[in-house]
Amino acid sequence: MENHENAASPIQGIHISWMNAAIIIMSLILYILLTITSLHVSKTTQASYDAMNDFSNCTQLGELFLDGSNYLTEQARLYISTTNRTHMDNYFAEVHTAYRRDVALDILSQFEPGEEIYSYLQAAMDKSVMLMEQEVYAMALVSLAQGFDPQSLPQEVQDAALTVEDRTLPPRELVEKARELVFGSEYQSVKVEISDDIENLLYALTDRYGQKIEDDYSNLHHAMATHQTLIAVHFIGTLVIFASTLQLVVLPMRNFVKHIENRTPLQMTGAYECKHLAQTYNKMFAYITANEHMLRHQAEHDALTGLLNRGAFDNLHASLAGYEGSLALLLVDVDKFKQINDSYGHETGDQVLKKVAQLLAQHFRGTDYPARIGGDEFAVIVMDTAPEEQDIIAGKIMEINQLLTHPADGLPVVSLSVGGAFSGAGFSETLYKDADSALYEVKEHGRCGCRFYNPASVHT
Ligand code: GH3
Ligand code: MG
Repeated sequence: MENHENAASPIQGIHISWMNAAIIIMSLILYILLTITSLHVSKTTQASYDAMNDFSNCTQLGELFLDGSNYLTEQARLYISTTNRTHMDNYFAEVHTAYRRDVALDILSQFEPGEEIYSYLQAAMDKSVMLMEQEVYAMALVSLAQGFDPQSLPQEVQDAALTVEDRTLPPRELVEKARELVFGSEYQSVKVEISDDIENLLYALTDRYGQKIEDDYSNLHHAMATHQTLIAVHFIGTLVIFASTLQLVVLPMRNFVKHIENRTPLQMTGAYECKHLAQTYNKMFAYITANEHMLRHQAEHDALTGLLNRGAFDNLHASLAGYEGSLALLLVDVDKFKQINDSYGHETGDQVLKKVAQLLAQHFRGTDYPARIGGDEFAVIVMDTAPEEQDIIAGKIMEINQLLTHPADGLPVVSLSVGGAFSGAGFSETLYKDADSALYEVKEHGRCGCRFYNPASVHT
């Protein structure tokens, strides 16, 4: 076995073990890439969401500021128009409690949207503060015109430093001046400027966040595309693995099973491991086949002469019972063989038996069956022959006897007695008996010769 292995040609092919290692490494790389892209997608989505949220919040802050500013204007104007003190209270409630403008400015600074954006709201705040001074002054004028107790007024209104000239004005003019302060074109144009500031703030926010959202979206798009490509690669990879496993393992295995069932050598196909298996199996198969052949040969052949043994001869004539062609059976016996053994020894007797076997095998055709059926007894089944050919057969025996009686190899002189019988179809029941009686005739008539059984006459 070792010699076989050493002589085996090196196997070429894909190693399943290497392929598995490659699959694991590639899956790991793919998994890492998928994880990275997933994280990137989730981060980009979050960033995009945050940007939109910030944009929405900042936009709302602009509106909050404007609402606060407009509310102050509205309440100041209502107070001046109606002298209903509730509006003045509402005004200062907005200033001290709701303070929407301050809240908007404060929160915007926390978003850190950039100096430019913040400056728009700061500018709006400065203008709003300026308008507040006018509004408070106007409310102080109206309160004076109404003759309200100064102590009952909000602190800011009390603190409004009315000019000496204004203090002397009659109530109607005080109200008129107050109206001029909060309804006049100067006031109105500052209001417009505040609106413009807020509008500019919104434009700047749109610019800043719009670009950021666009960038984030583009990032997201790329990340998703990469993610999808990786999933497609994974799918294609899975198909390739499936096809490779089919081609390299499953199909070769099916092929092997077919060959094993048919008792034929395996084809060297598939992966390295399959080829290795096939090579090992084929070596074992060749070894077992040779062994079987040898055992069968040993079971069917005589160890001394190498001719078919008695068992094989019996099987053969049993199987030739149904043969439709003609044949002849020759029974061959070495004459006075006991004397050879006695005179020259058993070993020389064996050499003589081997020589007889050799001569029989040489003189008959490859299609005939010479066999050793006893100690010094041989038989030859001569296939496809008829009584017309008995001279040819007798001639062959004569030639063998000629060689045995004039030995050139130093072995003792011997001769053969041969009795033969013919059958027109296969090995008949009486063939053996007929051949034996012919042999008996030869032995009776001086040995060293050949006769054929004939119910009418016996030929020498
Ligand atoms: P006959 O002419 O009447 O046949 O006389 P024979 O002496 O040949 O008598 P027979 O055929 O009965 O003798 C066969 C002898 O063959 C008997 C036996 O000792 C011998 N013998 C049988 N088998 C072997 C063998 O394997 N080797 C040897 N050397 N002798 C064997
Ligand atoms: Mg004999």
